[in-house]
Amino acid sequence: MKEEINYCGVAKNLIIEQKVNWEQCKTGYATLDSVQVKTFQFKNCSIKVQYNPGRMISTTAKVDTKSITERKCFLCKTNLPEAQQVVEYKDDFVILVNPFPIFPDHLTLPSLHHTTQNIENSFPVLLDFSKDLSPDFSVFYNGPKCGASAPDHLHFQAGTKNFMTIDHEYEQLRSGMGEKLYENNSLKVFSIDDDLRKMISIEGESKSEIEKAFQIFYSAYKNSSGQTEEPMMNILGFYQGDTWRIIIFLRKKHRPDVFFEEDEKKRILLSPAAVDIGGVCVTPHEKDFTAITKEKLKDIFAEVFIGTDSFQKLTNDLRIEFEKSITPGS
Ligand SMILES: [Zn+2]
Repeated sequence: MKEEINYCGVAKNLIIEQKVNWEQCKTGYATLDSVQVKTFQFKNCSIKVQYNPGRMISTTAKVDTKSITERKCFLCKTNLPEAQQVVEYKDDFVILVNPFPIFPDHLTLPSLHHTTQNIENSFPVLLDFSKDLSPDFSVFYNGPKCGASAPDHLHFQAGTKNFMTIDHEYEQLRSGMGEKLYENNSLKVFSIDDDLRKMISIEGESKSEIEKAFQIFYSAYKNSSGQTEEPMMNILGFYQGDTWRIIIFLRKKHRPDVFFEEDEKKRILLSPAAVDIGGVCVTPHEKDFTAITKEKLKDIFAEVFIGTDSFQKLTNDLRIEFEKSITPGS
């Protein structure tokens, strides 16, 4: 039997090493020391805004097909800078240090293969990473049309656990606003609308059961979205005390209109992805950091999340599908 590798420890050591031996990474983490943060308290949750000039490239990344085909993929192993160390993860993935951090510890977890960002087939890997990088990291996924800056190369990311506000506010959101869609001895599925975000959560101890629950969710969401491609979502994976907790944010739009505003004074460069809606909104411009208000944030969230009617319909569908498809204890 193969010896169990402590990936969490390996990843933390990798960050320490790369901050010393890779200039770009050292600079990136040094920038993080000077970021400014402000916190908005909403009715049910808190959202931080981080002024982080180091994130300009990711925030403004062009993700249209033409731009993607014309650039060199920065997640392919052959294109990595020489100083970037690669840790192999199981057969098909690697662990890299993200040189443009938002978190005190920030990893990029790409596939070894240059294959499209897609959660339907890679969801089990998100579960593996969440478990193997616990107790220190939360893992996340950005859909190809709502936040992934490399939609052409399958990848996840991981960051310091409890850095996103939802990591520690989730329990309270669920008990206050969660609607139980399904429950048996080992699996719980909730829908939560916290007045800012629409989400589905899946909690459980059995990997296969969570995978099945995700398949049921995926197919219902895809049907209700009426799209042939992957329906828009961002996912957070969290593992604690032998239990996975998966939060799925339901999206209808990538960037808000204010991102494209022609008048620079009115423009706000906020490109909402998993970390932003998980509670740490990143603005690479100081003027946007200063200008952003609670009301503007609320408007941006409302614009990029699915509406109340779609959410209601999806939760009704899910309730039916879960009853039909899952036999307790199976
Ligand atoms: Zn690639």
